[in-house]
Amino acid sequence: MMEIFYRRSKEHGLKITPQRTAIYQELLKAKDHPTADVIYKRIVKKIPNISFDTVNRTLLTFSKIGITNVVEGYGQPKRYDPDIAVHHHFRCLQCNTIIDFHSKDYDSMAVPDEIKKQFTVINKKVVLEGLCNKCRRR
Ligand SMILES: [Zn+2]
Ligand SMILES: [Zn+2]
Repeated sequence: MMEIFYRRSKEHGLKITPQRTAIYQELLKAKDHPTADVIYKRIVKKIPNISFDTVNRTLLTFSKIGITNVVEGYGQPKRYDPDIAVHHHFRCLQCNTIIDFHSKDYDSMAVPDEIKKQFTVINKKVVLEGLCNKCRRR
């Protein structure tokens, strides 16, 4: 997994600094699609002098060079996803938990004609929304 980080950074002329490496490693470990704020709080325990701004900017750069995905948040803070392979999300409307899932059917879903006529589709992602088990039990 670090290989893609080194390769893409090189391709985009991005210097590999200890801070960037640490941020990427922290993100790789995250399974909860964290916000920049959450990543910052985790990383600051290891690198006390790092600023939120650095973490935020680095995450934006990571998504620009394609080593991180941004989960659509519609008005909410951006959530970052280290898994750049095709997958889909279930989002809990109550607690905002985002859970990964895979579906071959969704992967191969056809693009509607009205979209195909007007746009070039690059990504197809399905977001299912509802209540997670924890929230349903409340
Ligand atoms: Zn929930
Ligand atoms: Zn995901």
